[in-house]
Amino acid sequence: MTDFAATRARFLLPGNLIYLDGNSLGPLPRGAAERLDGTVCHEWGELLIRAWNRAGWMELPGRVAARIAGLIGAEPDHVTVGDTLSVKVFQALSAALSLRPERRVVLSDTGNFPSDLYVAQGLIDALGQGHELRLAPPERIETHINEDIAVLLLTQVDYRTGRLHDMAALTARAHAAGALVIWDLAHSAGALPVDLAGAGADFAAGCTYKYLNGGPGAPAFVYVAPRHMRHARPVLQGWLGHAEPFAFEPEYRPAPGIDRLRVGTPPVLQLAALDAALDVWEGVDMQALRTRSIELSELFIALVEARCPMLTLASPRDPARRGAQVGFAFEEGHAAMQALIDRGVIGDFRAPDLMRFAFTPLYLDEDDIRKAAEIIADVMINRLWDAPEYRVRETVT
Ligand SMILES: *Cc1c(COP(=O)(O)O)cnc(C)c1O
Repeated sequence: MTDFAATRARFLLPGNLIYLDGNSLGPLPRGAAERLDGTVCHEWGELLIRAWNRAGWMELPGRVAARIAGLIGAEPDHVTVGDTLSVKVFQALSAALSLRPERRVVLSDTGNFPSDLYVAQGLIDALGQGHELRLAPPERIETHINEDIAVLLLTQVDYRTGRLHDMAALTARAHAAGALVIWDLAHSAGALPVDLAGAGADFAAGCTYKYLNGGPGAPAFVYVAPRHMRHARPVLQGWLGHAEPFAFEPEYRPAPGIDRLRVGTPPVLQLAALDAALDVWEGVDMQALRTRSIELSELFIALVEARCPMLTLASPRDPARRGAQVGFAFEEGHAAMQALIDRGVIGDFRAPDLMRFAFTPLYLDEDDIRKAAEIIADVMINRLWDAPEYRVRETVT
């Protein structure tokens, strides 16, 4: 039994807020604030350069990666952390393409997060070998998998609608056509059970500032299946991906294992915060988390639909077909979200018209959902969003 009241107590949440935006930036775990204080003041402040050895800074990426591996069904020692998700998608895609040198097509879906698509386009241009990025509608992606495809690059949970791809089935389908698969777990890691090894995934990458609560700018993770490890050669070759970084050899030699996907110096402050944030996951059963997340989202949909006919559910109605987030379409969605945030219900907005809400049982309960639905009904029924101050668009929506 997972004690969700106990996990909730481990977060520093402002009392007057209902936080439904853990899919964008997880809240602050108490342990992370304390850990950062120690890392900054004691380790950096007093140990200075000695902290790389004495405070275990050099081991931190491996330690944090091993903890993430446990949450995504990865074999130990096949995950590493660092850089941002966009960079790790680049790393994984460049390694995967080099494993299918006779093929030229990267297949993704039209719902994928733009950064993944931009990275693929940039890599294709840089390689200059005539590769093509092909996009298909997410609902019909399997019908586009054929023997042209070198790599299938998919985000498991759609960042807008929450639509969930069937990882095991699509991976099997791609393998039957001789293609490799990269899974982006940005909206999966910490949101639902993931079994990379069980699904036979080739590569995966994800971020840690969303459902893993690692803090703004927390480093990304990347996974390589054991069978590809010796052959995977990413294009970005940095000194910390070298077999012997402190030999300072002029020629690159990849590290034998997952470290070859590292690039440069680890972000120690971010890793310290993330390491502490991962403490919250100890004793959390991912299946229990999933069940609870579905209960909360089902309750939310029922309450909102009962009161707000002007909102249209933009997520799959079947909870088994969506991740931990729900989107409602509304023409004035941006203004409506601003009005909600003003009243203490924090979700976010994705153009053109989507209001997004995430259901994170680590720190949300039914009481929060009922209160949030009440406030949403008030804002929608009484058109409280229809005010000049809610028309202003800030940089981050
Ligand atoms: C959030 C997200 C990203 C963000 O990438 P960063 O490099 O960490 O900014 C990339 N891909 C997907 C699918 C995302 O949801």
